[in-house]
Amino acid sequence: MGELRDALARPLHDLRISVTDRCNFRCVYCMPKEVFGRGYRFLPKDDLLTYEEIARLVGISMRLGVTKVRLTGGEPLTRRGIEDLVAMLARDGLDLALTTNGSLLEEKARALRDAGLTRISVSLDSLDDAVFRRMNDVDFPVERVVRAMDAAYGVGLHPLKVNMVVRRGMNEESIVPMAAFFRERGYVLRFIEYMDVGHTNGWRMDDVVSAKEIVRAVTSAFPAEPAEPNYVGEVAERWRYSDGRGEFGVIASVTQPFCRDCTRARLSADGKLYTCLFATQGTDLQALLRGGASDDEIAGRIADLWSARTDRYSELRGEETARLRKIEMSYIGG
Ligand code: SAM
Ligand code: SF4
Ligand code: SF4
Repeated sequence: MGELRDALARPLHDLRISVTDRCNFRCVYCMPKEVFGRGYRFLPKDDLLTYEEIARLVGISMRLGVTKVRLTGGEPLTRRGIEDLVAMLARDGLDLALTTNGSLLEEKARALRDAGLTRISVSLDSLDDAVFRRMNDVDFPVERVVRAMDAAYGVGLHPLKVNMVVRRGMNEESIVPMAAFFRERGYVLRFIEYMDVGHTNGWRMDDVVSAKEIVRAVTSAFPAEPAEPNYVGEVAERWRYSDGRGEFGVIASVTQPFCRDCTRARLSADGKLYTCLFATQGTDLQALLRGGASDDEIAGRIADLWSARTDRYSELRGEETARLRKIEMSYIGG
């Protein structure tokens, strides 16, 4: 069998798995309190894929070309025994990573490393405590996230990446201080353009601080040159500091879309497969798993779905697409 390709000739290489739609933060750009408040109905526990089901789907996806898996959410470390899932997935030939808000990482770093995790991304939107508390909206202090990063780095989870979403009027003043701090620490900071995922965060183009603006701000403080991508389909545009002190990246999904090289599928916590972050509909793999389908049948369903894929939302983004009823990022997995 030749390599599986979608309708635009893109292979399937990455799978992002949301292990829970719940989170202990209420970041204003992701899970605003007005929507994700007391009355919000998260998935019932029985609807979540079990770790065995996730591991089975990962095995099947690897047959179809997947080489990279990222565990995300919601907040993946809030799901009990997440290290058990890591241990089930850690195997030869699979690049396994996890994205976390860092709130529970200090206690979990060693167990995750022991289970076989190799790479981790920790999100942090500002070093200014007041700004960060306002953005996570649960009064969580910066200091504990930085301590967790140090703990993760200390047990050998490198390279350690730091994700910062930049939203105008909220944290653009933090761009240069973040760059200064993390280049000293040796962690790779990646700035992320604020995206119109979901339909609850009230996204407006005016709120986006473009990659160009971000790069201008960082390089006027710390000169840097563009670096070659590590591989085709790498989402971050990389910049290397001229004084040799590491690098930073920008993920310009709004102003410089990279759909052409997008090799990612996403699995929601309840087992629906999505072929784009901005999809409005998923394919129910949980029903297949629980209905007794064989590995070959499930592989066939995924292959059919991928072969028909034409998604390139970010390249088409406009007034019309902004109004679509898209899936929330906490559900589909960031
Ligand atoms: N809770 C974990 C965390 O925050 O790292 C993992 C899930 S979170 C949805 C994954 C990443 O998506 C985070 O780095 C977060 O900042 C980013 N994100 C969430 N909403 C976003 C948006 N509207 N635009 C750009 N990035 C966003
Ligand atoms: Fe939670 Fe991550 Fe979304 Fe923030 S970005 S609300 S930490 S899922
Ligand atoms: Fe991939 Fe969809 Fe994002 Fe384009 S918009 S890069 S197709 S996930």
